[in-house]
Amino acid sequence: MSGVVYLVGSGPGGLGLLTYRAREVIDAAEVILYDQLPGEEILSTLPASAEKIDCGKYGGAHTLSQEEIERLMVDRAKQGRRVVRLKGGDPFVFGRGGEEMEVLREHNITVEVVPGITSAIAVPGCAGIPVTHRSFASQVTFLTGHEDPKKEESAIDWGWLAQSPGTIVILMGVKNLGQITASLIAHGMKSDKPVAIIERGFRPDQQVTIGTLADITTGAQAAGVKPPAIIVIGEVVSLYRDGSEGAWSRGQ
Ligand code: SAH
Repeated sequence: MSGVVYLVGSGPGGLGLLTYRAREVIDAAEVILYDQLPGEEILSTLPASAEKIDCGKYGGAHTLSQEEIERLMVDRAKQGRRVVRLKGGDPFVFGRGGEEMEVLREHNITVEVVPGITSAIAVPGCAGIPVTHRSFASQVTFLTGHEDPKKEESAIDWGWLAQSPGTIVILMGVKNLGQITASLIAHGMKSDKPVAIIERGFRPDQQVTIGTLADITTGAQAAGVKPPAIIVIGEVVSLYRDGSEGAWSRGQ
């Protein structure tokens, strides 16, 4: 028996944005390997009968190593059990879902991908910031801010990015915010470019910090910005209005 693993995205937080298919496969799961990013509202509804394995915090910082997670997933699937690997947002957007699919394929385990609503689009959206807009942005770039831009062999071309038009959406960028903004300015991006940081989107304690490329780092420090947060850089940020988070931020 080789079993099946569902690579499931939970959406950006909250039951309302979990897909119908995700709910079906979660409810039928015999084993669930979950990250913390889906949030308490979803994690508290995992079926009591399933074996539940906590894989840890956001994105990179797991309590189990990536190898350990993959080993457990393969092991449980080979027992012929229905396994769900539950991740925040979409499983293939900065969630190592692609790597996990490759490992499962190597072991001839059936994989079903259940896409989720990615925080990269939905979290700016819930703060009233569209990632594209005919007047402001016809292009969006998504990137991980996990990498220090000063690193010699950066996988990100900061020079190109600083010159490119449109919106930049950064995930996992809080820690390196100072280096990221400095690098974009050094490569020629206007220092008055609007920036928004949205922390804990779709949670009752969502918080938005607005600034410019030049002052957002100081602003973020003053506001005590912490992960998980989405950083949006570009003219679309000018559409933000205080309070446009609406019902989500009030937990309704
Ligand atoms: N696969 C996920 C991203 C995983 S990387 C997705 O598609 O959304 C983890 C990063 O996602 C966090 O560091 C943060 O930048 C972002 N993130 C996920 N959910 C978020 C939320 N509800 N509010 C703010 N940022 C979030």
